[in-house]
Amino acid sequence: MRKLASIQRIKALESIENADSILKATVLGWQLVVKKGEFKVGDLCVYCEIDSILPDKPEFEFLRPRKMRIRTVRLRRQISQGICFPLSILPSGISIEEGGDVTSILEITKYEPPIPAQLSGLVKGVFPSFIPKTDETRVQVLQDLLDKYVGDTCFVTEKLDGSSVTYFFNNGEFGVCSRNLELLETEGNSLWSVARELDLENKLLKFGKNLALQGEIIGEGIQKNKYRLRGQKVHFFNAFDIDNYQYFNFDLFMRFMDDFELESVPVLESDFALSSDIPTLVEKAIGKSVLRQETHREGIVIRPLQEKTDTIGRVSFKSINPKFLLKFEDA
Ligand code: AMP
Ligand code: MN
Repeated sequence: MRKLASIQRIKALESIENADSILKATVLGWQLVVKKGEFKVGDLCVYCEIDSILPDKPEFEFLRPRKMRIRTVRLRRQISQGICFPLSILPSGISIEEGGDVTSILEITKYEPPIPAQLSGLVKGVFPSFIPKTDETRVQVLQDLLDKYVGDTCFVTEKLDGSSVTYFFNNGEFGVCSRNLELLETEGNSLWSVARELDLENKLLKFGKNLALQGEIIGEGIQKNKYRLRGQKVHFFNAFDIDNYQYFNFDLFMRFMDDFELESVPVLESDFALSSDIPTLVEKAIGKSVLRQETHREGIVIRPLQEKTDTIGRVSFKSINPKFLLKFEDA
């Protein structure tokens, strides 16, 4: 489970133009609106990230109109991401430590977009244990990691807003998985029909190694088809060597895409010297989609050219475009 709620310090408080009763607070790398007088700089609070679903409790009733989900909002032109609660919302007797994870203590869960029917199909089984599930950490919680890798050469891809798919070939068996499950081949299942169109089973067989390919399926019926495509297609972002339990480096991945005539997610930059300034990395996420000029892109994903692992696991993270969040989240 990702850390959605944790004990954090209020790093800064600033006034907001034309607003007397609210302030802009900085917590981790996030900016959010708080009530004036509720916190002082240096105070500890319980910070809940966007996409937290809060439990049915009287103190969270104000989120009911938003289906209990914390979303990105704009108040007096100030973007606000997440909510700070006073420590008093914690049950008594728990230890108060900066950075402490209180997600499960508060019974907070993560919002997951529903998987459309044509992607869910019939379940074959759980997600294979020999492949990591796809996920990306938000840049706003990664200051220490950024400080460690600042200046390293990274590549930047467009983050597409579709649904995650994993195709694998392992010991002679070809498999298709949605974000959390392995699926049977059924008529009308888009994850399988794209695999057949791309002739993936044969391509992976020809490659001759135990391998997983992971990507984002986008198009009709998926996440409101923001890119206005006909049908569905997959853009890949990972090749994973199952036997050696490691991802391909960027160069090898791109060569693989070429050799097997597969499309990667759009590559925006391949020689980005990593910045450690979170606002800079958030600003970088703003822009239109490579796939459709009129659509705000969801964001970017940043990774070192040479794969690395650290405390968060794979060094790879997302920076979400605030304009995308405002446009599509509040609908
Ligand atoms: P989220 O969609 O917020 O849960 O962020 C993580 C997910 O982004 C991954 O599980 C992928 O399915 C998806 N994704 C879309 N585009 C990319 C990309 N360019 N690189 C990596 N993951 C991506
Ligand atoms: Mn997504």
